[in-house]
Amino acid sequence: MASLRDLPSVDKLLQAAPLQAWQAAYGRAGVLETARAVLDALRAELRHNGTHPLPVPALDELVARVGAALEARFRPSLRPVINATGVIIHTNLGRAPLSLAAQQAIVAIGGQYSTLEFDLEDGKRGSRYAHAEAALCELTGAEAALVVNNAAAALVLVLSALAQGRQVILSRGHLVEIGGAFRVPEIMAQSGALLVEVGTTNRTRIGDYAAAISPQTAMLMHVHSSNFRMIGFTEEAPLGEMAALAHERGLICVQDLGSGALLDTAQFGLSHEPTVQESVQAGVDLVVFSGDKLLGGPQGGIIVGRRELVAQLKKHPLARALRVDKLGYAALAATLDHYRCGQALAQVPVWRMLSRSLDELLQAARRWADAWGGIILPGQSTIGGGSLPGETLPTTLAALHVPKPDAFLARLRQHEPPIIARIQDERVLFDPRTVLDGQEDGLIEGVKLALERERA
Ligand SMILES: *Cc1c(COP(=O)(O)O)cnc(C)c1O
Repeated sequence: MASLRDLPSVDKLLQAAPLQAWQAAYGRAGVLETARAVLDALRAELRHNGTHPLPVPALDELVARVGAALEARFRPSLRPVINATGVIIHTNLGRAPLSLAAQQAIVAIGGQYSTLEFDLEDGKRGSRYAHAEAALCELTGAEAALVVNNAAAALVLVLSALAQGRQVILSRGHLVEIGGAFRVPEIMAQSGALLVEVGTTNRTRIGDYAAAISPQTAMLMHVHSSNFRMIGFTEEAPLGEMAALAHERGLICVQDLGSGALLDTAQFGLSHEPTVQESVQAGVDLVVFSGDKLLGGPQGGIIVGRRELVAQLKKHPLARALRVDKLGYAALAATLDHYRCGQALAQVPVWRMLSRSLDELLQAARRWADAWGGIILPGQSTIGGGSLPGETLPTTLAALHVPKPDAFLARLRQHEPPIIARIQDERVLFDPRTVLDGQEDGLIEGVKLALERERA
Protein backbone atom coordinates (compact mmCIF):
# COMPACT_ATOMS: atom_id res chain seq x y z
CA MET A 1 0.00 0.00 0.00
CA ALA A 2 1.14 3.50 -0.77
CA SER A 3 2.28 4.61 2.58
CA LEU A 4 1.23 7.93 3.96
CA ARG A 5 4.74 8.05 5.27
CA ASP A 6 5.98 8.32 1.67
CA LEU A 7 4.36 11.75 1.45
CA PRO A 8 6.83 14.56 1.89
CA SER A 9 6.47 16.74 4.97
CA VAL A 10 5.11 20.21 4.48
CA ASP A 11 8.57 21.57 5.26
CA LYS A 12 10.09 19.46 2.51
CA LEU A 13 7.41 20.62 0.09
CA LEU A 14 8.08 24.25 0.95
CA GLN A 15 11.73 23.74 -0.06
CA ALA A 16 10.77 23.02 -3.68
CA ALA A 17 11.91 25.87 -5.94
CA PRO A 18 8.44 26.89 -7.21
CA LEU A 19 7.14 27.05 -3.66
CA GLN A 20 10.05 29.25 -2.67
CA ALA A 21 9.12 31.62 -5.48
CA TRP A 22 5.43 31.54 -4.53
CA GLN A 23 6.27 32.36 -0.92
CA ALA A 24 8.02 35.47 -2.19
CA ALA A 25 5.01 36.39 -4.32
CA TYR A 26 2.05 35.38 -2.14
CA GLY A 27 3.56 35.41 1.37
CA ARG A 28 4.72 32.48 3.48
CA ALA A 29 1.54 32.08 5.53
CA GLY A 30 -0.76 31.64 2.54
CA VAL A 31 1.57 29.20 0.78
CA LEU A 32 2.07 27.20 3.97
CA GLU A 33 -1.65 26.95 4.56
CA THR A 34 -2.27 25.97 0.93
CA ALA A 35 0.49 23.33 0.96
CA ARG A 36 -0.95 21.86 4.19
CA ALA A 37 -4.42 21.76 2.70
CA VAL A 38 -3.11 19.97 -0.41
CA LEU A 39 -1.25 17.37 1.71
CA ASP A 40 -4.28 16.88 3.97
CA ALA A 41 -6.55 16.33 1.00
CA LEU A 42 -4.09 13.82 -0.43
CA ARG A 43 -3.86 11.92 2.87
CA ALA A 44 -7.62 11.66 2.98
CA GLU A 45 -7.61 10.43 -0.62
CA LEU A 46 -4.97 7.78 0.07
CA ARG A 47 -6.74 6.57 3.21
CA HIS A 48 -10.03 6.36 1.43
CA ASN A 49 -8.50 4.12 -1.22
CA GLY A 50 -6.82 1.88 1.35
CA THR A 51 -7.73 -1.43 -0.31
CA HIS A 52 -6.82 -0.25 -3.82
CA PRO A 53 -3.67 1.64 -3.05
CA LEU A 54 -2.93 4.67 -5.13
CA PRO A 55 0.65 5.55 -5.86
CA VAL A 56 1.92 8.52 -3.89
CA PRO A 57 2.26 11.36 -6.38
CA ALA A 58 5.72 12.55 -7.29
CA LEU A 59 6.97 15.85 -5.92
CA ASP A 60 6.30 17.57 -9.27
CA GLU A 61 2.68 16.55 -9.10
CA LEU A 62 2.38 17.85 -5.54
CA VAL A 63 3.93 21.14 -6.58
CA ALA A 64 1.46 21.42 -9.44
CA ARG A 65 -1.44 20.82 -7.07
CA VAL A 66 -0.21 23.54 -4.73
CA GLY A 67 0.18 25.87 -7.72
CA ALA A 68 -3.39 25.26 -8.83
CA ALA A 69 -4.69 25.75 -5.27
CA LEU A 70 -2.77 29.02 -4.92
CA GLU A 71 -4.13 30.28 -8.19
CA ALA A 72 -7.68 29.55 -7.04
CA ARG A 73 -6.98 31.18 -3.68
CA PHE A 74 -5.80 34.45 -5.22
CA ARG A 75 -8.16 34.57 -8.19
CA PRO A 76 -10.23 37.75 -7.76
CA SER A 77 -13.97 37.27 -7.63
CA LEU A 78 -14.36 40.43 -9.72
CA ARG A 79 -12.90 39.44 -13.07
CA PRO A 80 -13.24 40.51 -16.71
CA VAL A 81 -15.47 38.29 -18.84
CA ILE A 82 -16.26 38.04 -22.53
CA ASN A 83 -19.87 39.03 -23.09
CA ALA A 84 -21.13 37.11 -26.13
CA THR A 85 -24.78 37.45 -25.11
CA GLY A 86 -25.54 40.41 -27.35
CA VAL A 87 -27.02 42.31 -24.40
CA ILE A 88 -25.20 45.65 -24.61
CA ILE A 89 -25.92 47.13 -21.17
CA HIS A 90 -25.78 43.90 -19.17
CA THR A 91 -26.33 44.88 -15.54
CA ASN A 92 -24.98 41.60 -14.15
CA LEU A 93 -21.85 41.95 -16.28
CA GLY A 94 -21.08 45.49 -15.12
CA ARG A 95 -23.22 47.56 -17.49
CA ALA A 96 -21.22 49.92 -19.72
CA PRO A 97 -17.58 49.05 -20.49
CA LEU A 98 -15.50 52.23 -20.40
CA SER A 99 -13.74 53.92 -23.30
CA LEU A 100 -9.98 53.74 -23.51
CA ALA A 101 -9.67 57.39 -22.47
CA ALA A 102 -11.89 56.78 -19.43
CA GLN A 103 -9.79 53.77 -18.44
CA GLN A 104 -6.62 55.80 -18.80
CA ALA A 105 -8.10 58.63 -16.73
CA ILE A 106 -8.82 56.16 -13.92
CA VAL A 107 -5.24 54.92 -13.97
CA ALA A 108 -3.80 58.45 -14.07
CA ILE A 109 -5.97 59.84 -11.27
CA GLY A 110 -6.00 56.69 -9.16
CA GLY A 111 -2.24 56.40 -8.98
CA GLN A 112 -1.41 60.00 -8.12
CA TYR A 113 -2.53 62.95 -6.04
CA SER A 114 -5.05 65.08 -7.89
CA THR A 115 -7.09 68.28 -7.86
CA LEU A 116 -10.12 66.39 -6.51
CA GLU A 117 -10.93 69.13 -4.00
CA PHE A 118 -8.14 71.58 -4.67
CA ASP A 119 -8.25 74.86 -6.54
CA LEU A 120 -5.02 75.47 -8.43
CA GLU A 121 -5.83 79.19 -8.88
CA ASP A 122 -5.76 80.18 -5.24
CA GLY A 123 -4.22 77.07 -3.70
CA LYS A 124 -7.26 76.59 -1.48
CA ARG A 125 -9.93 73.98 -1.09
CA GLY A 126 -11.98 73.36 -4.25
CA SER A 127 -15.16 71.40 -4.89
CA ARG A 128 -15.24 67.88 -6.29
CA TYR A 129 -18.64 68.73 -7.79
CA ALA A 130 -16.91 70.99 -10.30
CA HIS A 131 -15.27 68.17 -12.24
CA ALA A 132 -18.22 67.14 -14.39
CA GLU A 133 -20.59 70.06 -13.97
CA ALA A 134 -19.53 72.34 -16.81
CA ALA A 135 -19.46 69.47 -19.32
CA LEU A 136 -22.88 68.21 -18.22
CA CYS A 137 -24.34 71.73 -18.58
CA GLU A 138 -22.74 72.17 -21.99
CA LEU A 139 -24.13 68.84 -23.22
CA THR A 140 -27.62 69.00 -21.76
CA GLY A 141 -28.40 72.72 -21.77
CA ALA A 142 -29.02 72.64 -18.01
CA GLU A 143 -27.92 75.43 -15.66
CA ALA A 144 -26.28 73.16 -13.10
CA ALA A 145 -25.40 69.55 -12.43
CA LEU A 146 -24.46 67.23 -9.59
CA VAL A 147 -23.25 63.64 -9.65
CA VAL A 148 -23.82 61.09 -6.89
CA ASN A 149 -23.26 57.37 -6.56
CA ASN A 150 -26.06 56.11 -8.83
CA ALA A 151 -29.50 57.15 -10.04
CA ALA A 152 -31.23 55.46 -7.09
CA ALA A 153 -29.09 57.57 -4.73
CA ALA A 154 -29.85 60.67 -6.79
CA LEU A 155 -33.58 60.10 -6.34
CA VAL A 156 -33.19 59.59 -2.59
CA LEU A 157 -31.25 62.87 -2.43
CA VAL A 158 -33.71 64.84 -4.56
CA LEU A 159 -36.74 63.59 -2.64
CA SER A 160 -35.10 63.99 0.78
CA ALA A 161 -33.85 67.48 0.09
CA LEU A 162 -36.88 68.87 -1.71
CA ALA A 163 -39.96 66.89 -0.64
CA GLN A 164 -39.41 65.48 2.85
CA GLY A 165 -42.69 65.60 4.77
CA ARG A 166 -44.45 66.99 1.71
CA GLN A 167 -46.43 65.49 -1.13
CA VAL A 168 -45.11 64.23 -4.43
CA ILE A 169 -47.69 63.61 -7.14
CA LEU A 170 -47.01 60.58 -9.30
CA SER A 171 -49.04 58.78 -11.96
CA ARG A 172 -50.15 55.23 -11.11
CA GLY A 173 -48.50 54.31 -14.40
CA HIS A 174 -45.15 55.45 -12.95
CA LEU A 175 -45.22 53.32 -9.78
CA VAL A 176 -42.57 51.03 -11.16
CA GLU A 177 -39.90 48.63 -10.05
CA ILE A 178 -36.58 49.37 -11.70
CA GLY A 179 -34.82 46.16 -10.66
CA GLY A 180 -33.40 44.55 -7.58
CA ALA A 181 -35.24 46.00 -4.60
CA PHE A 182 -35.60 49.41 -6.20
CA ARG A 183 -39.24 50.45 -6.33
CA VAL A 184 -40.27 54.07 -6.78
CA PRO A 185 -42.87 54.07 -3.93
CA GLU A 186 -40.34 52.56 -1.51
CA ILE A 187 -37.65 55.08 -2.40
CA MET A 188 -40.21 57.75 -1.74
CA ALA A 189 -41.10 56.30 1.67
CA GLN A 190 -37.38 56.07 2.53
CA SER A 191 -36.94 59.74 1.70
CA GLY A 192 -39.88 60.81 3.85
CA ALA A 193 -41.82 62.17 0.88
CA LEU A 194 -45.56 61.51 0.83
CA LEU A 195 -46.73 59.77 -2.31
CA VAL A 196 -49.96 60.96 -3.90
CA GLU A 197 -51.06 58.62 -6.68
CA VAL A 198 -53.10 59.98 -9.56
CA GLY A 199 -54.64 58.59 -12.74
CA THR A 200 -54.72 54.89 -13.55
CA THR A 201 -52.11 52.36 -14.59
CA ASN A 202 -52.72 52.96 -18.28
CA ARG A 203 -54.03 56.54 -18.45
CA THR A 204 -53.07 59.70 -16.60
CA ARG A 205 -53.99 63.18 -17.85
CA ILE A 206 -52.60 66.58 -16.94
CA GLY A 207 -55.93 67.34 -15.23
CA ASP A 208 -55.30 64.45 -12.81
CA TYR A 209 -52.13 66.15 -11.60
CA ALA A 210 -53.82 69.57 -11.40
CA ALA A 211 -56.70 68.20 -9.33
CA ALA A 212 -54.35 66.59 -6.81
CA ILE A 213 -52.27 69.68 -6.03
CA SER A 214 -52.70 70.88 -2.45
CA PRO A 215 -50.84 73.23 -0.09
CA GLN A 216 -48.79 70.20 1.01
CA THR A 217 -47.56 69.44 -2.52
CA ALA A 218 -43.86 69.94 -3.26
CA MET A 219 -43.31 68.18 -6.53
CA LEU A 220 -44.73 66.59 -9.66
CA MET A 221 -42.69 63.58 -10.59
CA HIS A 222 -42.34 61.76 -13.90
CA VAL A 223 -40.70 58.34 -14.16
CA HIS A 224 -39.68 57.26 -17.63
CA SER A 225 -40.93 53.73 -18.33
CA SER A 226 -37.46 52.57 -19.21
CA ASN A 227 -37.74 48.84 -18.61
CA PHE A 228 -41.26 48.02 -19.76
CA ARG A 229 -43.69 49.13 -22.38
CA MET A 230 -47.38 49.80 -22.24
CA ILE A 231 -49.37 49.48 -25.40
CA GLY A 232 -53.03 49.83 -26.28
CA PHE A 233 -55.38 52.21 -24.51
CA THR A 234 -52.77 54.43 -22.87
CA GLU A 235 -52.23 58.10 -22.22
CA GLU A 236 -49.52 60.06 -20.44
CA ALA A 237 -49.44 63.76 -19.63
CA PRO A 238 -46.79 65.40 -21.84
CA LEU A 239 -43.65 66.30 -19.89
CA GLY A 240 -43.80 69.94 -21.02
CA GLU A 241 -47.35 70.29 -19.69
CA MET A 242 -46.33 68.75 -16.36
CA ALA A 243 -43.46 71.23 -16.03
CA ALA A 244 -45.70 74.16 -16.98
CA LEU A 245 -48.36 73.11 -14.46
CA ALA A 246 -45.75 72.72 -11.72
CA HIS A 247 -44.37 76.21 -12.36
CA GLU A 248 -47.82 77.79 -12.54
CA ARG A 249 -48.52 76.45 -9.06
CA GLY A 250 -45.12 77.21 -7.55
CA LEU A 251 -44.00 73.57 -7.54
CA ILE A 252 -41.08 71.74 -9.07
CA CYS A 253 -41.14 69.03 -11.72
CA VAL A 254 -38.65 66.19 -11.40
CA GLN A 255 -38.02 63.39 -13.87
CA ASP A 256 -36.39 60.01 -13.33
CA LEU A 257 -35.22 59.48 -16.89
CA GLY A 258 -33.42 56.19 -16.26
CA SER A 259 -31.00 55.60 -19.07
CA GLY A 260 -30.34 59.17 -19.99
CA ALA A 261 -29.27 59.12 -23.61
CA LEU A 262 -27.45 62.16 -24.98
CA LEU A 263 -27.65 60.92 -28.57
CA ASP A 264 -30.61 59.81 -30.65
CA THR A 265 -31.11 56.03 -30.66
CA ALA A 266 -33.44 56.34 -33.67
CA GLN A 267 -30.41 56.63 -35.98
CA PHE A 268 -29.92 52.88 -35.51
CA GLY A 269 -33.48 51.92 -36.37
CA LEU A 270 -34.45 51.76 -32.71
CA SER A 271 -37.24 53.85 -31.31
CA HIS A 272 -36.31 57.21 -29.92
CA GLU A 273 -35.15 56.99 -26.30
CA PRO A 274 -35.95 60.38 -24.79
CA THR A 275 -32.76 62.42 -24.38
CA VAL A 276 -31.69 64.47 -21.39
CA GLN A 277 -31.61 67.60 -23.56
CA GLU A 278 -35.29 67.12 -24.46
CA SER A 279 -36.28 66.92 -20.81
CA VAL A 280 -34.32 70.07 -19.97
CA GLN A 281 -35.90 71.78 -22.96
CA ALA A 282 -39.37 70.70 -21.81
CA GLY A 283 -38.81 72.69 -18.63
CA VAL A 284 -38.22 69.87 -16.16
CA ASP A 285 -36.50 71.36 -13.10
CA LEU A 286 -34.35 68.34 -12.25
CA VAL A 287 -33.59 65.38 -14.48
CA VAL A 288 -32.03 62.26 -12.93
CA PHE A 289 -30.27 59.58 -14.98
CA SER A 290 -27.61 56.87 -14.74
CA GLY A 291 -23.96 57.21 -15.72
CA ASP A 292 -23.47 53.60 -16.79
CA LYS A 293 -26.41 52.95 -19.08
CA LEU A 294 -26.70 54.65 -22.49
CA LEU A 295 -24.29 57.39 -21.41
CA GLY A 296 -21.64 54.65 -21.45
CA GLY A 297 -19.64 55.90 -18.48
CA PRO A 298 -18.95 54.81 -14.91
CA GLN A 299 -21.64 54.11 -12.33
CA GLY A 300 -23.17 57.39 -11.29
CA GLY A 301 -26.41 59.19 -10.63
CA ILE A 302 -26.45 62.40 -12.61
CA ILE A 303 -28.77 65.24 -11.70
CA VAL A 304 -29.07 68.19 -14.06
CA GLY A 305 -31.37 71.18 -13.79
CA ARG A 306 -32.04 74.52 -12.16
CA ARG A 307 -29.16 76.20 -10.39
CA GLU A 308 -30.86 77.03 -7.09
CA LEU A 309 -32.24 73.52 -6.72
CA VAL A 310 -28.89 71.88 -7.47
CA ALA A 311 -27.30 74.25 -4.94
CA GLN A 312 -29.79 73.01 -2.32
CA LEU A 313 -28.90 69.41 -3.16
CA LYS A 314 -25.17 70.08 -2.85
CA LYS A 315 -25.67 71.46 0.66
CA HIS A 316 -27.77 68.52 1.90
CA PRO A 317 -25.95 66.13 4.28
CA LEU A 318 -26.95 63.16 2.11
CA ALA A 319 -24.90 64.60 -0.78
CA ARG A 320 -21.79 63.99 1.31
CA ALA A 321 -22.87 60.43 2.08
CA LEU A 322 -23.64 59.67 -1.57
CA ARG A 323 -20.65 61.39 -3.14
CA VAL A 324 -18.63 60.00 -6.04
CA ASP A 325 -14.96 59.13 -5.67
CA LYS A 326 -12.09 60.48 -7.76
CA LEU A 327 -12.08 57.44 -10.05
CA GLY A 328 -15.73 58.01 -10.91
CA TYR A 329 -15.09 61.67 -11.76
CA ALA A 330 -12.04 60.77 -13.81
CA ALA A 331 -13.98 58.27 -15.92
CA LEU A 332 -17.09 60.43 -16.21
CA ALA A 333 -15.20 63.54 -17.33
CA ALA A 334 -13.34 61.52 -19.97
CA THR A 335 -16.59 59.95 -21.18
CA LEU A 336 -18.34 63.31 -21.42
CA ASP A 337 -15.42 64.68 -23.44
CA HIS A 338 -16.16 62.13 -26.17
CA TYR A 339 -19.61 63.67 -26.54
CA ARG A 340 -18.22 67.21 -26.36
CA CYS A 341 -15.85 66.40 -29.23
CA GLY A 342 -18.51 64.64 -31.31
CA GLN A 343 -16.60 61.36 -30.89
CA ALA A 344 -19.08 59.33 -28.83
CA LEU A 345 -20.09 56.97 -31.65
CA ALA A 346 -16.45 56.16 -32.32
CA GLN A 347 -15.12 56.12 -28.75
CA VAL A 348 -17.82 55.17 -26.25
CA PRO A 349 -18.13 51.35 -26.32
CA VAL A 350 -21.92 51.31 -25.79
CA TRP A 351 -22.42 53.52 -28.86
CA ARG A 352 -19.81 51.64 -30.86
CA MET A 353 -21.74 48.45 -30.21
CA LEU A 354 -25.04 50.09 -31.13
CA SER A 355 -23.57 51.32 -34.39
CA ARG A 356 -21.66 48.21 -35.55
CA SER A 357 -22.41 47.44 -39.17
CA LEU A 358 -24.31 44.32 -40.22
CA ASP A 359 -21.43 43.36 -42.48
CA GLU A 360 -18.88 43.58 -39.67
CA LEU A 361 -21.10 41.39 -37.47
CA LEU A 362 -21.63 38.87 -40.28
CA GLN A 363 -17.88 38.61 -40.93
CA ALA A 364 -17.12 38.02 -37.26
CA ALA A 365 -19.85 35.38 -36.85
CA ARG A 366 -18.57 33.61 -39.96
CA ARG A 367 -14.97 33.58 -38.66
CA TRP A 368 -16.14 32.03 -35.40
CA ALA A 369 -18.47 29.49 -36.98
CA ASP A 370 -15.66 28.41 -39.34
CA ALA A 371 -13.21 28.05 -36.45
CA TRP A 372 -15.65 25.94 -34.41
CA GLY A 373 -17.45 23.96 -37.09
CA GLY A 374 -20.68 25.78 -36.31
CA ILE A 375 -23.17 27.67 -38.43
CA ILE A 376 -24.30 31.27 -38.65
CA LEU A 377 -27.85 32.38 -37.95
CA PRO A 378 -29.66 35.67 -38.14
CA GLY A 379 -30.46 36.96 -34.66
CA GLN A 380 -31.20 39.95 -32.48
CA SER A 381 -29.05 41.90 -30.02
CA THR A 382 -30.76 43.72 -27.17
CA ILE A 383 -29.98 46.99 -25.43
CA GLY A 384 -30.57 45.82 -21.85
CA GLY A 385 -30.02 47.79 -18.67
CA GLY A 386 -33.61 48.93 -18.63
CA SER A 387 -33.26 50.81 -21.89
CA LEU A 388 -35.55 50.46 -24.91
CA PRO A 389 -37.48 47.40 -23.68
CA GLY A 390 -38.50 44.93 -26.34
CA GLU A 391 -36.32 46.60 -28.92
CA THR A 392 -33.65 44.71 -30.76
CA LEU A 393 -30.95 45.27 -33.33
CA PRO A 394 -30.40 42.76 -36.12
CA THR A 395 -27.17 40.78 -35.86
CA THR A 396 -25.56 37.56 -37.06
CA LEU A 397 -24.88 34.83 -34.50
CA ALA A 398 -22.40 31.98 -34.48
CA ALA A 399 -24.35 28.89 -33.39
CA LEU A 400 -23.15 25.54 -32.07
CA HIS A 401 -25.03 22.32 -31.69
CA VAL A 402 -23.71 20.43 -28.65
CA PRO A 403 -25.23 17.45 -26.82
CA LYS A 404 -25.66 19.28 -23.50
CA PRO A 405 -25.89 23.03 -24.05
CA ASP A 406 -26.20 23.86 -20.33
CA ALA A 407 -23.08 21.90 -19.45
CA PHE A 408 -21.29 23.56 -22.36
CA LEU A 409 -22.20 27.03 -21.11
CA ALA A 410 -20.91 26.05 -17.65
CA ARG A 411 -17.62 24.93 -19.21
CA LEU A 412 -17.31 28.26 -21.05
CA ARG A 413 -17.77 30.05 -17.74
CA GLN A 414 -14.84 28.10 -16.31
CA HIS A 415 -12.55 29.36 -19.04
CA GLU A 416 -10.11 32.19 -18.38
CA PRO A 417 -11.41 34.74 -19.22
CA PRO A 418 -14.89 33.34 -18.65
CA ILE A 419 -17.10 33.36 -21.75
CA ILE A 420 -20.78 34.20 -21.30
CA ALA A 421 -23.05 32.96 -24.09
CA ARG A 422 -26.70 31.98 -24.33
CA ILE A 423 -28.90 29.11 -25.43
CA GLN A 424 -31.84 29.23 -27.74
CA ASP A 425 -33.63 26.27 -29.31
CA GLU A 426 -30.97 23.87 -27.96
CA ARG A 427 -28.21 25.84 -29.67
CA VAL A 428 -25.40 27.74 -28.01
CA LEU A 429 -25.32 31.25 -29.51
CA PHE A 430 -22.56 33.84 -29.68
CA ASP A 431 -23.32 37.43 -30.67
CA PRO A 432 -20.33 39.39 -32.03
CA ARG A 433 -21.96 42.74 -31.20
CA THR A 434 -20.88 42.73 -27.54
CA VAL A 435 -17.48 41.11 -27.94
CA LEU A 436 -14.99 43.94 -27.52
CA ASP A 437 -11.88 44.75 -29.53
CA GLY A 438 -9.07 42.47 -28.46
CA GLN A 439 -11.34 39.73 -27.09
CA GLU A 440 -11.93 37.79 -30.29
CA ASP A 441 -8.84 35.55 -30.15
CA GLY A 442 -9.55 34.60 -26.54
CA LEU A 443 -13.13 33.78 -27.43
CA ILE A 444 -12.22 31.63 -30.43
CA GLU A 445 -9.59 29.71 -28.44
CA GLY A 446 -11.82 29.29 -25.39
CA VAL A 447 -14.70 27.84 -27.35
CA LYS A 448 -12.34 25.57 -29.32
CA LEU A 449 -10.95 24.22 -26.06
CA ALA A 450 -14.43 23.62 -24.65
CA LEU A 451 -15.36 21.75 -27.86
CA GLU A 452 -12.26 19.56 -27.61
CA ARG A 453 -13.13 18.66 -24.03
CA GLU A 454 -16.69 17.94 -25.11
CA ARG A 455 -15.43 15.51 -27.75
CA ALA A 456 -12.77 13.92 -25.52
C1 LIG B 1 -31.89 52.13 -14.13
C2 LIG B 1 -32.90 53.07 -13.60
C3 LIG B 1 -32.77 53.58 -12.30
C4 LIG B 1 -31.66 53.18 -11.39
O1 LIG B 1 -30.43 53.66 -11.84
P1 LIG B 1 -29.08 53.25 -11.09
O2 LIG B 1 -28.06 54.15 -11.67
O3 LIG B 1 -28.87 51.81 -11.37
O4 LIG B 1 -29.29 53.48 -9.62
C5 LIG B 1 -33.74 54.45 -11.86
N1 LIG B 1 -34.79 54.78 -12.63
C6 LIG B 1 -34.96 54.32 -13.88
C7 LIG B 1 -36.17 54.75 -14.68
C8 LIG B 1 -34.01 53.44 -14.42
O5 LIG B 1 -34.16 52.96 -15.65
